[in-house]
Amino acid sequence: MNIEDIYKKFDKIGCLTFATIDKGTPQTRIAHLFAYDHEGLYFRTMITKPFYEQLSKTKKASICGMYPKTSVSYNWEGMPYFPPGYTIRATGNVREIPFDVLKEKSVADEMFLLGVKDIEKYPAMTTFCLYEAWGEVYDFDYEMEHRSHKLLREGFSFGGALIPFRGVRITDACISCGKCQAGCSFKAISQHEGKFVIDHTRCDACGDCYMVCPAGAIEIVAGDPNS
Ligand code: SF4
Ligand code: SF4
Repeated sequence: MNIEDIYKKFDKIGCLTFATIDKGTPQTRIAHLFAYDHEGLYFRTMITKPFYEQLSKTKKASICGMYPKTSVSYNWEGMPYFPPGYTIRATGNVREIPFDVLKEKSVADEMFLLGVKDIEKYPAMTTFCLYEAWGEVYDFDYEMEHRSHKLLREGFSFGGALIPFRGVRITDACISCGKCQAGCSFKAISQHEGKFVIDHTRCDACGDCYMVCPAGAIEIVAGDPNS
């Protein structure tokens, strides 16, 4: 995915949750992205807000949203039902963009004009760019209404960030009993040349395979190579 694809996924949602850290405590608020270019994704806040202080101090932010519906309905079993859609998130480093730089960008690309007009209207407004980030599109169809498996996950990064691997994987301790494959409702496990492997684009890291494996061959991997 390139930066345009990423922006369009976020823009289709509109209002997004932005997370920051304030003295070690997570903080969230709703905002939106208004532009993108080869340098990153752009959003605005006001210098009088805690959001600004947190962004300025930590120079980090995380964004996420969900399409097409955020309300929860229930199926015939009384279980949550989500119509097919996607979530998207991006986490990384931000920097403030001076107003004269924003004006220069608006000459080359009118998408930035909105930011210029808004700052002229509200002088305490300023712009930030998420310039180095990794993230993921988590495309879900839990009831398999349009395809034969529940998930399609696609990682992305820009600005030089690395995409971390998090989830589960099968180690050499596997005795090829097949219990994990039989128990995976995400159809993420298959057998190739006698070895069981996980397709991480389909895996939800739900842990069902981890719980049934008799050989302790499922390893949980956590970690962020960017930190
Ligand atoms: S359940 Fe464990 S031992 Fe059995 S095939 Fe899966 S990973 Fe291998
Ligand atoms: S963690 Fe869940 S989705 Fe992933 S392979 Fe195991 S059972 Fe399947």
